[in-house]
Amino acid sequence: MPRCLSCGREIVETKHHGETYAIDGYCLHTGKTKRVSAKNDNGTAIEFLQMSEPKDYFLCINCFAKTGTRDVWMSTFPDAGDITTLCR
Ligand SMILES: [Zn+2]
Repeated sequence: MPRCLSCGREIVETKHHGETYAIDGYCLHTGKTKRVSAKNDNGTAIEFLQMSEPKDYFLCINCFAKTGTRDVWMSTFPDAGDITTLCR
């Protein structure tokens, strides 16, 4: 079972009860990113972020409910420094 990055408690799997379900935590799939330049099919230059070293981080629903924690979690590609602020 994964553990919450912030409080350390175990996060149990989502429980399904008929048409309802109970979520105990969230998984953030992220990693280091680098800016990549390329050309699309019609020759137009494009830039995008390419993820390297993917990693999964878990947060329980109690810690997710905390405003500061949720803000980091919901930002686009939080970096390693952002994630460190969530660690206990
Ligand atoms: Zn937690």
